[in-house]
Amino acid sequence: MSNITVCARFRPLSSKEKKDSRDNICISSLNSESFVFKEEKEECTFSFDKVFYEESMQADVYEFLALPIVKDAVKGVNGTIITYGQTGAGKTYSVEGTSILECDEQKKGLLPRVVDGLFECIKSADELTKYTVKLSMVEIYMEKVRDLLDLTKDNIQIKENKMQEILLSGVTEITISDPEGALQSLSVRQSCLITLSYSTTTTLLIRLGHLMWTEMNVGSSRSHCVYILTVQLESTTDKRVKTGKVILVDLAGSEKVEKSGAEGKVLEEAKTINKSLSALGNVINALTCGPSARSSHIPFRDSKLTRILQDALGGNSRTVLLCCCSPSPSNALETLSTLRFGMRAKHIKASPLVSRREDRHAKKHEDITLTKDESCDRIL
Ligand code: ADP
Ligand code: MG
Repeated sequence: MSNITVCARFRPLSSKEKKDSRDNICISSLNSESFVFKEEKEECTFSFDKVFYEESMQADVYEFLALPIVKDAVKGVNGTIITYGQTGAGKTYSVEGTSILECDEQKKGLLPRVVDGLFECIKSADELTKYTVKLSMVEIYMEKVRDLLDLTKDNIQIKENKMQEILLSGVTEITISDPEGALQSLSVRQSCLITLSYSTTTTLLIRLGHLMWTEMNVGSSRSHCVYILTVQLESTTDKRVKTGKVILVDLAGSEKVEKSGAEGKVLEEAKTINKSLSALGNVINALTCGPSARSSHIPFRDSKLTRILQDALGGNSRTVLLCCCSPSPSNALETLSTLRFGMRAKHIKASPLVSRREDRHAKKHEDITLTKDESCDRIL
């Protein structure tokens, strides 16, 4: 069932890395899906659904991994994009660009492009649906969920409703468009309305971004940042309401903290981050290992991160994992660990087992023969 697309992205060498490594990089590309990773002594080949090398553009990343999700969201299907990797690997660059205030069109990250994309799709959608787009932003720091649109709400509770949807209790949701009636017919006036609300949206995001950058006192690499764009679709004929969510997650840095190097608060932060990233890995494993292996238990409740992502990961949704990496030999070990995290999700899906499992999933979770351990043995 779990429909996980796993991509790797290598950023260019930083100027410091260039000095240290004299332009050496630890990967050599085979094609747009595979590369050879060179460590000191060993070489191994990695394959993903797509590999974005250092020259790749933000627009390429958006088109491959986010556009399908955007198109689905306006049909009421959830999608989640998760960026994973060590601090400095390019997660925030991928999600936001160099800053959310980014004016350079080419550098715009996934978040502003997703907003653009949603409104583009809504503009060309049928006139029998009324769309409302809402935005929430939260941060998970030390297992506490904080509302980035209202910093006084620093302990948001995660609840599940009868429809098994995950809700952030009391979280601020801003309607970033009010296309009331706008799509009922494709008249000029209505398309103007959308253009208007679209530019308002951009301004709003810029203002929110500014707020975030100036008021957030928790370093982004030590917290998980979650952006939730909810598209509500209301049928103008029978008034039925559906929602599609696009969730973008800029994870905390996945680097291991040397036992000797960290103490006190930093060590506590690192432990909490490692715990929640492991919980994410376990959930991805449990989901990709198939229904029989699930034994009906997916450990969503092991961390706030996985709990928030529960309906996005486990429900009717597409998930993309973008493994962000440095190409520098000086970061080889962390890069390897990131790539392995990605492979855990990717490999099982690519095996014949999965196509069977996916078929079976279509028939509502019939049993499969492999156990979790057997299928997980194949991961690496
Ligand atoms: P992370 O969020 O993973 O800690 P950042 O996204 O902040 O890392 O990236 C670290 C630095 O590398 C930033 O200065 C960023 O602008 C730069 N960078 C990251 N990815 C790219 C890329 N694909 N192209 C150009 N610069 C990048
Ligand atoms: Mg970051």
